[in-house]
Amino acid sequence: QQQKQRQTVVMYPSFGVGHIIPMTELARVLLGRGLAVTMVLIERPFWSSDSGAATTRRVMAANPAITFHFLPPYPSPPDFAGSTKPPFFHTLLLRRYNGELGRFLRSDAFPPGRLHSVVTGMFSTYAVDVAAELGVPAYTFFASGAGFLAIVAQLPALLAGRKEGLKALGDAALDFAGVPPIPASHLVKELLEHPEEDDLCAAMVDVWRRIADADGVVVNTFESLERRAVSALRDLRCGVPGKPMPPVYCVGPVVGDTDRAAEAADERRHDECLEWLDAQPERSVVYLCFGSRGTLPAAQLREIAAGLERSGHRFLWVVRTPAGTEDAKKFLEQRPEPDLDALLPEGFLDRTEGRGLVVTSWAPQVAVLRHRSAGAFVTHCGWNSVLEAVTAGVPMLCWPLYSEQMLNKVLMVGEEMGVAWEMEGYAAGFVTAEEVERKVRLVMESEEGRELRARVAARKEEAEAALREGGSSRVAFERFLADAEKVRGRLGK
Ligand code: UDP
Repeated sequence: QQQKQRQTVVMYPSFGVGHIIPMTELARVLLGRGLAVTMVLIERPFWSSDSGAATTRRVMAANPAITFHFLPPYPSPPDFAGSTKPPFFHTLLLRRYNGELGRFLRSDAFPPGRLHSVVTGMFSTYAVDVAAELGVPAYTFFASGAGFLAIVAQLPALLAGRKEGLKALGDAALDFAGVPPIPASHLVKELLEHPEEDDLCAAMVDVWRRIADADGVVVNTFESLERRAVSALRDLRCGVPGKPMPPVYCVGPVVGDTDRAAEAADERRHDECLEWLDAQPERSVVYLCFGSRGTLPAAQLREIAAGLERSGHRFLWVVRTPAGTEDAKKFLEQRPEPDLDALLPEGFLDRTEGRGLVVTSWAPQVAVLRHRSAGAFVTHCGWNSVLEAVTAGVPMLCWPLYSEQMLNKVLMVGEEMGVAWEMEGYAAGFVTAEEVERKVRLVMESEEGRELRARVAARKEEAEAALREGGSSRVAFERFLADAEKVRGRLGK
């Protein structure tokens, strides 16, 4: 009953585990402040993978205090399967879903005065229109860093001044305020076209332009991790003439916490990865995982295996079935569990038994990274993975695959953040066994490796300080809540 009386924040993440997970963590913080949270998801979007659905179920089970509501599935557009540009439909679809979202928010589930605000995901920004219709504040939760947000804010102006897409610039460096020079080729692939010639590019630019219409942007980062970008955001406009960037609240790192892992002790006892890690020496294990969607071709998997084997180090490796080659397929395929014997070099699993563990599809990553035996992390540089490693104090080897990951890589290896080195082969689409072996040895054995670890450990401390009473993220979060109240007042709530 009491729960029913509480004001409700509606969270509307974009699709994807990488968006749902951190938003759930933010929801937990809001619950702790006496607000109720309803998380609105879309029932089985037609490109969602089985592992995404399984993870969503796990997230739901672990968060009984959050109300989850599913909007009905949208019929798949007939031309979708043949398209090579599913993300375009993704953004279009989210815009079409505004009607469904509005209907739900006007339903009996929300008596007058109950709705506190709408928090959109970084792709579901069109929902700011729904919030406006209902007269409640709208915020965007940006599940990437301040550096990417700064770039997103500066892109429309950059593109408007050009006749052709940024692709033409190749590796030439782009100067954006707040971040080191970024090779043009390292931007999100879809943004390399020109919006006037490419629908997908135009759609993406438009999605992020709508951030200007939100009452604020909640960013999953902390000030001392990205000082330059955070400070640039204070002065930036957001790509819409005449509109300033709305207030930015850097409240991160918002990642899963160990207390909860302990709470889920039952699950822990049964988890193969954690049990195996328990038996390994401190900081001895290299963990390899490529996010919720990352896959590598079979030849690359064999090469990694050879490199790991030669390095002599312990490893925990999450292996997925290689994706098809076309973009559309990568999104659509319901991939079967990988056949490790067929994918990995003959005898590899036997020869590395005891020293290495290969798991299929999924590992409890936050708990793995925080385990005392985690020594290094080979990562695809998804922003959640980056924050999870930083808060665990684990140094990283970057192997970016898609989305803004190449850009994240530039920031991670850059002087300001300094938490990682890169696997250089990724740029040519193939990392050799020799490089895997060499980099693993470097991070695990060398003096430079120790220095890198020390830098990440310092970042970890900074992250903890940011979240403590009086820390920058805690202060930003208080400001977010107080500002939301002011906006509600202005809207007559
Ligand atoms: N994740 C996990 N186990 C896996 C793969 C991914 O727990 O085997 C989690 C990971 O901890 C992170 C999220 O899934 O919270 C992936 O988000 P990220 O931003 O790193 O990458 P994305 O999947 O969005 O590319």
